[in-house]
Amino acid sequence: MTSPIQTRIEETLSRLPEGVQLVAVSKFHPAEAIAEAYAAGQRAFGESRVQELMDKQARLPHDIEWHFIGHLQPNKVKYIAPFISLIHAVDTLKLLHEIDKQGAKCGRRIPCLLQLHVAREETKFGFSVEEARQLLEGGEWKGLGHAKICGIMCMASNSDDLRQVKGEFRSARLFFEEARERFFPDDEDFCICSWGMSHDYPVAVEEGATMVRVGSKIFGERA
Ligand SMILES: *Cc1c(COP(=O)(O)O)cnc(C)c1O
Repeated sequence: MTSPIQTRIEETLSRLPEGVQLVAVSKFHPAEAIAEAYAAGQRAFGESRVQELMDKQARLPHDIEWHFIGHLQPNKVKYIAPFISLIHAVDTLKLLHEIDKQGAKCGRRIPCLLQLHVAREETKFGFSVEEARQLLEGGEWKGLGHAKICGIMCMASNSDDLRQVKGEFRSARLFFEEARERFFPDDEDFCICSWGMSHDYPVAVEEGATMVRVGSKIFGERA
């Protein structure tokens, strides 16, 4: 029997070119919904609250790849450090240091992405291109052996103006290319461009996303 969640995952996957990973954003949806997606073969799930993620992680199969996609307070890194697959939204050097510290404690090198602020909204977190460039030029991150910068993440403006959205993804992509050339030339792990949500992921893919974070299109509107 095909469930609606399964159908929507297959639909989404069919629109993604090879090499683009789907992170199913399950925040605010119950563990049962995740279990359904899991039964359809989906393994990567995105959550944006630490407590909710920990509850689900404890209840669900252990081969799930958990992604933290929301704003993360440094004092909460310790709770997810033992199992998190990717922290998408590193928005301060302080957070990167904390990830490194907690990664060291559990003997892991924790993959993370720098969050770029490219949207028009003022409320969204993240570095400006110039701030991200300065962080990389500063070089401190090179000494953090347990926090591994693997790419760039961003959110576009919440807008129907696809030209605007496309331009924002493009500026993230350009910064990714610059960073790869200047700071990660021989580093194959620096390869992730995380952008695109339910309403804009096809545009994100056109603009070089290698990972899309799709929630409501798969699970329905948040409960
Ligand atoms: C909620 C969320 C998503 C998914 O949004 P949908 O519109 O439900 O697809 C993607 N990325 C981040 C950072 C989010 O917080």
